[in-house]
Amino acid sequence: MTIPTEPIGSIPRPVELIDALARKDCDDPSLAPHYEGAVRDTIARFEATGSPVVTDGEQRKYHNFWTYPVHGLSNTNPDGFQIPFAAGHVRRMPRLTHGPFRYRRYADEFLRRAQHYAHVPVKQAVISASALSLMYPADGIAGYPREQFIDDLLREHEIEIRRCLAAGAAVVQVDFTEGRLAMKIDPSGHLLNSFIDLNNLALARFSSEDRRRVGVHTCPGGDRDSTHSADVDYEQLLPSLFQLNVGRFYVALANEKDRPRILATIQRHLRPDQTVFVGVIAAIVPRIETVEEVRDRVLEAARYVPVDQLGTTDDCGFAPFSDDMSTTRDTAFAKIRARVLGTALASEALNH
Ligand SMILES: [Zn+2]
Repeated sequence: MTIPTEPIGSIPRPVELIDALARKDCDDPSLAPHYEGAVRDTIARFEATGSPVVTDGEQRKYHNFWTYPVHGLSNTNPDGFQIPFAAGHVRRMPRLTHGPFRYRRYADEFLRRAQHYAHVPVKQAVISASALSLMYPADGIAGYPREQFIDDLLREHEIEIRRCLAAGAAVVQVDFTEGRLAMKIDPSGHLLNSFIDLNNLALARFSSEDRRRVGVHTCPGGDRDSTHSADVDYEQLLPSLFQLNVGRFYVALANEKDRPRILATIQRHLRPDQTVFVGVIAAIVPRIETVEEVRDRVLEAARYVPVDQLGTTDDCGFAPFSDDMSTTRDTAFAKIRARVLGTALASEALNH
C-alpha cells in the first residue's frame, strides 16, 4: 500500500520571468524563452523531489489561477469581483461587459508544454465554473441574459476539462477556492449551494470514468502568505463540498487549528468512491516542515479516513498569483520534498 501524493499546482515564478512580465504583455512573443526556461526548470526540480506527479508550476498562467482563461478579453473591464485578503491587500477580477462569453485560452496548452519536458505524469489545474461566474455583473448585461452566460460558461469549462483529459492529464483539478469564501460573503449558504449546483451541472457532462480523473481543490486562499477565508469554519463548507460529483478532493488542512475535528467531518461526509488528499504542507508558512512532522500528519489523518481513500497534498499552490514573491522556489521545492518523503514514511509505518 502506497499513499498517493500530489501537488496543487503553482510554484513561484523565477525572478527574471516576474521582472519580464512587469515590463511586457503576457502574450509578447519575446517572453517565450522566459516561459520555456521556467517550465523546463520547474519540471526538472519537481522531478528531483521524487514527486510521482508534477505540474508546470503554472509558470504560464497569467495573471493568476483564476483569470488565466479570460485575461485580455476585449469584452471585460478590470473593475470586477474583489477578494480581500487578511493581510490587507485586494485582488480584483475582470467584469464581463457584453456577450458572448468565450475563453481566450484553455489550460491544455500549458499541459502539453509541460508534458514535453516531464518523465512522470503531469496534472493540470483549471479554474471552476463557479469562480468565473462571478464575472457576470449583479445588475445584468443588456441583450445577454445570465442564463445565456451560464450556458456559454459551462460549455467553455467543459471544453477545457475535455481537452486536458484528452491530452493525457494524470488528473484535472478544478480550483474551488471560492467555496469557503462563499460562506464568508453569504453565511446563509445560498451562494455556496448555487456554486455546488453550477459545478455539478458541469461535472454531469462527464462519464463516471472521466470523473475519477477529476478532482476539486478547496482552501482559504493563499497569496502573499495570507488567506481570504481562513476565519470561516470548515464545518460550513465540507458537507456541501463532498456533494460535488468528483472522485478526488484536495483539502487544505496543515494550517488549520483543529485538524482532528475537521478530519472527523471529512470522515462523516466522504463517499466510498471518493479519495481525499489532505494538506500536510502549509504553503503560506515559511518554515519547512520536517519529514517526521509530515509523517505524523498523515498518520493522524489515517485515524479518520480509510487508508485506501487517503492521499496527501500541499495546502495550496505556492504562488497562485504570478507576481507573488513571498515564497522562494527553493522553499517551495524543499516543502514538496518533505511532503513526498514524509508521505512515504507514513506508508511504511501503516504497512507494519
Ligand atoms: Zn488553494
